[in-house]
Amino acid sequence: MKETPLKFIKGVGEKRATLLNKLDIHTLSDLIRYFPRSYLDFSAPTPIPKLVPGTTACFCAVVGYTPVKNEIRRGMTIYKTLLIDGEYSVHLSIFNNSYLAESLIEGEEYYFYGKIQLNRGMFEITNPVIEKADSENAMLPVYPLTAGLTSKMLSKIIANALSLYEKDSQGDIIPDGIRKKYGLCHEQFAFRSIHRPQNPHDVEIARRRFIFEELLLLQLGMKLLKDRNRGTTALKLEKDFSAEFEARLPFCLTGAQKKAISACISDLKGSTPMNRLIQGDVGSGKTVVAASAIFSMAKNGIQSAFMAPTDILARQHYATLTRLFEGTDIKTELLTGSVSAKKKNEIKQRLINGETDVIIGTHALLTEDTRFASLGLIITDEQHRFGVKQRGALGDKGTNPHTLVMSATPIPRTISLIVYGDLDLTVIDELPKGRQKISTYAVDTTYRQRIYTFIKKHLDLGLRAYIVCPLVEENEGDLTAAKQYAEKLKKEHFSDYKIGLLHGKMKAKEKEKIMKDFASGEISLLVATTVIEVGVDVPESVIMVIENAERFGLSQLHQLRGRVGRGKEKSYCILISDAEGEGARSRLEIMCKTSDGFKIADKDLELRGPGDFFGSRQSGIPKLKIADLTENMDIVRQSKQASEEILKKDPRLMLHENKGLKAAVRSLFTDKKRITLN
Ligand code: ADP
Ligand code: MG
Repeated sequence: MKETPLKFIKGVGEKRATLLNKLDIHTLSDLIRYFPRSYLDFSAPTPIPKLVPGTTACFCAVVGYTPVKNEIRRGMTIYKTLLIDGEYSVHLSIFNNSYLAESLIEGEEYYFYGKIQLNRGMFEITNPVIEKADSENAMLPVYPLTAGLTSKMLSKIIANALSLYEKDSQGDIIPDGIRKKYGLCHEQFAFRSIHRPQNPHDVEIARRRFIFEELLLLQLGMKLLKDRNRGTTALKLEKDFSAEFEARLPFCLTGAQKKAISACISDLKGSTPMNRLIQGDVGSGKTVVAASAIFSMAKNGIQSAFMAPTDILARQHYATLTRLFEGTDIKTELLTGSVSAKKKNEIKQRLINGETDVIIGTHALLTEDTRFASLGLIITDEQHRFGVKQRGALGDKGTNPHTLVMSATPIPRTISLIVYGDLDLTVIDELPKGRQKISTYAVDTTYRQRIYTFIKKHLDLGLRAYIVCPLVEENEGDLTAAKQYAEKLKKEHFSDYKIGLLHGKMKAKEKEKIMKDFASGEISLLVATTVIEVGVDVPESVIMVIENAERFGLSQLHQLRGRVGRGKEKSYCILISDAEGEGARSRLEIMCKTSDGFKIADKDLELRGPGDFFGSRQSGIPKLKIADLTENMDIVRQSKQASEEILKKDPRLMLHENKGLKAAVRSLFTDKKRITLN
């Protein structure tokens, strides 16, 4: 029924169907879910004496006499009359709309909406929106439009669609019990009220219901995804070795790390596969948590795979793990794109044999055709990418292995409930002791010379610095700009220093060489595009300069800043921007004041909306149509609770009362988004 094509709706012919398609409306269901952007509210009209000249307002008045026609010149007619409310009146002029003017009836009451002007001491309104004054018309919907369609037309078509829908409605997709409990209005009332409300309160009630519904469907979908592979046995951890691992560390774990490790261990002991996200700020020490899990698994004879987003990062994780496991019998292996075919084969052979305990590589490498003897744990270092899709990809390599996702991007709780709804969440909200605050400054380009001097002073002490130039895309033009800038720095400012350039177009080998040289001090100043965002731990690097800082989101800046302050020395982050305007300035000010990634993420959400957090469209998460995660936190929580209640009672939505929900979840997570629900 809801898939009914547009042509069956009264008032929609070929031509209008094409126009509607432009608005991404293809079916009856799309049409009735095409919600107004706003409303003209006639439900509380302004009394005439309270009208303010120069403002747009709505008032209610009686047409004093049949509008009088005047031909000003050829093709230009004007109708005039007086609108009366008791002892007050407003002059009405209507240009070139004889149809409207002649439809006005003397003595009848109408709503008028438009700009109020003052002319020789009298209120005047010209070409207003006019509606017959009755409760049906108290709030007029205003739809986002395309050329050739007016709100009025759309409103009519939608009214027709609504009567069709009501005739055939199968009842509400949200079960009665849930609706009652969460105070949601009925679907039919909601559709009526959102398109044809009688007062603002109706709109609120309807909106709340649709927002709730959207978030509910999203969370049901994510939860169903999460439980997809559950119930089947994973390779279970028999004995916990995390204490032994901890004893080997040269430092004390933070409380948050301990909590995260014990959450993992308790998951790993279960026969349902772990599905956990560890979220923590840069430098919060997530790798150690992963390493502890790997350690225990290896001691139990179970293999782990560790996937990193880039080659550089895979190498770094490899180095970290080898160091942490030194002197044990745990065999660690690295598989990267630059390994020769022969070597690759040998590495893979050792994996199948079970000689290797843990393999580290990029997402691509580990998903290709790697086979394992007993893969029990997959760790994905996502950094700041969220891909529902790829998370599952390695899943069929083992017997439903445990999965652990690490994200270095603190994201607001609201968002993680949604984006990571398919995962259990552990937050590491504590940095290891003794970390220094990174001093952050926002300056304009006139400071460059001073900054260069400042950098030199530090380089002379054997320390290192980054200068980041943003590339909007890694395209040729921008790249040339970055290269030229590096050249210029080299020639004009740092001729006595070793400068390296790092960008995304470089081959893995080249990048690795540069990073190695930077880590060893062979290169002391690294001019880089954003590729360093996801990499590399160089304790001697103490200055991070970011050019055109206004081009980055706050969370991105925070990530970049996290590349310094990793050692004992005092570190600095300098944001350079010539951007005018309050917005840009105050964004950069936030960076100077705050070092808490979660707070920064909240700000980012507030300032830029949730788009950034959802990443690219490939994230696999359906786009939100009506819910706004910045404003609807309460509803997010309630709908999450509702989704849990529903699934607790009916884990796979098989009950009759959940039929509607199931269909709706399915259609929300359809093929387009490449997610299959069973
Ligand atoms: P991230 O969470 O950004 O991945 P890492 O795991 O790379 O952080 O840790 C950053 C640095 O902090 C590493 O050098 C690591 O050895 C160190 N580290 C981790 N945990 C602690 C701790 N509890 N105390 C001191 N240093 C720690
Ligand atoms: Mg890390």
